[in-house]
Amino acid sequence: MVVCVATELCPHCGVVRETVLTSTTDERAQADGTTLKIRTDIYHCGSCTGFVRSEEHVTDG
Ligand SMILES: [Zn+2]
Repeated sequence: MVVCVATELCPHCGVVRETVLTSTTDERAQADGTTLKIRTDIYHCGSCTGFVRSEEHVTDG
C-alpha cells in the first residue's frame, strides 16, 4: 500500500482526504484468444479506509 499524494472527495467522510493507492494486475482473456493485462488502481480514503474510486489501465505487459 502506498500513500498517494492525490486527494479525493471521500464519499464516507464527506470531505477531501488524502488517498491510499493499491494496484493489482490481472490478465483478461479476449475473444481472439489473446490476453490483455489490466492494472487496476484502487483508491481508499487515508482516514476511514473506505473505498473512494478505482481506475483500470491496459498495460503493455
Ligand atoms: Zn473517508
